Amino acid sequence: MNIELQCCALFIIFTITVMFLREKKLDLMNRKLFFRAICACVACLIFDILSVILINMSILKGFSPIITSLVCKIYIMLLVMQGYFGYMYASTSLLPQDKKWAKNVTIISHVIFAAGEVLMLALPIGYEVHGREVYSYGPSTTVAYALAAIYVMATIITTLAYRKSMPGRRFVAMLLWQGLWLLAAAIQFAVPKVLLVGFASAFGMVILYIQLENPSEYIDASTGLFTTNALSAYVRDKYRFGKSFSMFTAKIHYLTNFVDYSMEQAAVMRTARALVALGPEPAFRIDDDTFCVLYDDKERMLERAANIKMQKDNVTDIPAKGTYLLIPDSLIMSGSDEFFRFLHTYLESEQEIVVASVELVQKLRRTNKTKELINDALAEDRVEVFYQPFYNVKESRFNVAEALVRIRNKDGSLVPPGEFIPVAEESGQIIPLGIRVFEKVCQTLSRGEVQKYGLEQIEVNISAAQFDYENPAKFVFDYMEQYNVDPGWINLEITETAAARNSELMLKNMNRLIDEGITFSLDDFGTGRSNIDYFVHMPVGIIKFDHSFTKGFFENEKTKHILTGMMDILHKMGMSIVAEGIETEEQEKVMEDMGVEYIQGYYFARPLPEDEFISFLAVRN
Ligand code: C2E
Ligand code: CA
Ligand code: CA
Repeated sequence: MNIELQCCALFIIFTITVMFLREKKLDLMNRKLFFRAICACVACLIFDILSVILINMSILKGFSPIITSLVCKIYIMLLVMQGYFGYMYASTSLLPQDKKWAKNVTIISHVIFAAGEVLMLALPIGYEVHGREVYSYGPSTTVAYALAAIYVMATIITTLAYRKSMPGRRFVAMLLWQGLWLLAAAIQFAVPKVLLVGFASAFGMVILYIQLENPSEYIDASTGLFTTNALSAYVRDKYRFGKSFSMFTAKIHYLTNFVDYSMEQAAVMRTARALVALGPEPAFRIDDDTFCVLYDDKERMLERAANIKMQKDNVTDIPAKGTYLLIPDSLIMSGSDEFFRFLHTYLESEQEIVVASVELVQKLRRTNKTKELINDALAEDRVEVFYQPFYNVKESRFNVAEALVRIRNKDGSLVPPGEFIPVAEESGQIIPLGIRVFEKVCQTLSRGEVQKYGLEQIEVNISAAQFDYENPAKFVFDYMEQYNVDPGWINLEITETAAARNSELMLKNMNRLIDEGITFSLDDFGTGRSNIDYFVHMPVGIIKFDHSFTKGFFENEKTKHILTGMMDILHKMGMSIVAEGIETEEQEKVMEDMGVEYIQGYYFARPLPEDEFISFLAVRN
């Protein structure tokens, strides 16, 4: 009898089913759908074999035609069901969950399926045997072929339409699976004695299993916990179906610089075991030293978290500490993207325990908005440079100015740097932003207008982060050459924090720039820790007294003495001083009398756009 291929297929699919059922499972929608498709495949193969046997018996030995017809019908109904489950498996994770049309598509496919099954059951079916050729025919079979074709096409179309939102591997596996089906159907149609469709569908399941439902993707080999990939799929599922969850995350921080490998293994394994022992909820290893467990509700998570913390506090033989991130309610985040962004941001926190709150999520949103603002401004050339002139006391004129960055909103309003520089420093955007500011300053200088009215130097702010990468001096040289800018026209303002980060690399870069004729000043003097070391060892010629420092001078006796004393020391060291934040005539007089070289402040001018700045110079110089 013509059932060898189907028996082989049944054997294959059985093996897959056993492997699938034996695995450690994560409750994922895709896995449920895949399992459904496997079951349909098994049932379909069994009835395929049964129908071939019964058709033979019925025609050759007079077995009951009613039962035979019924079995033939069940077989084709299962065949359609298999196509339908395949389509569901392919489309459920792709169609947008919140769109009305997607819901309608799903409802329509359910209705077509149900109506098709009823039709196949109701319509007549015939069957025939010619040697090894065994087949059924009639209206019921025609409906089955039509529906199977519809589901194959729908699966292929969905896969093609969403190719961008799936990994390449999934795309290939889906097309291969459906392609095999089509090929088998075509062969079976041309050579009816080769009953290939059942075999092809079992083989398709093997492809899906190996490529998409492969357990090694989801299980971390060394700890047996679930992987980041698994977490990603799991969390996406939860948000897709609007299910809230709570999450507990623990990160191991080793307290010594060089961690012994076996000690690290011990710490990791012990953590993994502790997490597994705590309950049936899924535990994940999401990084070498980061673990998390997902709970259905907050109370359970808090209870378990306390337990884990207690266990950790009892560990004395491994020099490590833990930091913990608790997310009591996943629904304070808008979706899985925001969830993972939150995780990445706050897992880096040095705080021992961070508890996710609405405020933290909002802060993250603001930071993200600012990052977008900066990126858009850079892309759309809405970064502007304003100039604030300094009054040169000895020469009674304005020969130096500070370049201060602004972002122009689309509506024309301005965003001050205080709102985006801190974010840019943290995100690294300060690098392209700083380069853009420097280019604009070079453009201004290359036009020669400002020099015509007596300007000799422009001071450009350099952030600490700009010195943290290998070659910050390069863009300075490149732009000076491109715009024909004399190095003597440029002064760079650095801060003490910049000096504190990587003094060796910074000094190297500063000296390269100084060798070319660029000068430096030390910004924000008088804030934070004013380590004497900085200006003793740093090659700076100008010290800028911060607003708060000069303000303190007018408000506080002690600050007055410190500032006066500092000024004396700095002058003896041959440095010049800029007093910032001078707003009134009286303050200006006092600073002048004290012997400050430059005065910067609203009293003379606010930071001005380039054209107003040029007019200012033209009038005042
Ligand atoms: P900063 O370097 O201390 O710059 C001086 C700030 O003081 C400027 O604020 C200026 O507008 C303000 N200012 C000037 N005179 C007065 C005054 O009389 N009273 C008061 N209350 N304020 C005065 P701005 O432009 O908002 O810049 C803020 C900070 O942003 C700057 O402080 C600097 O740290 C940073 N920044 C600005 N542009 C850049 C840049 O291109 N690169 C980098 N890395 N940082 C920049
Ligand atoms: Ca500055
Ligand atoms: Ca300053």
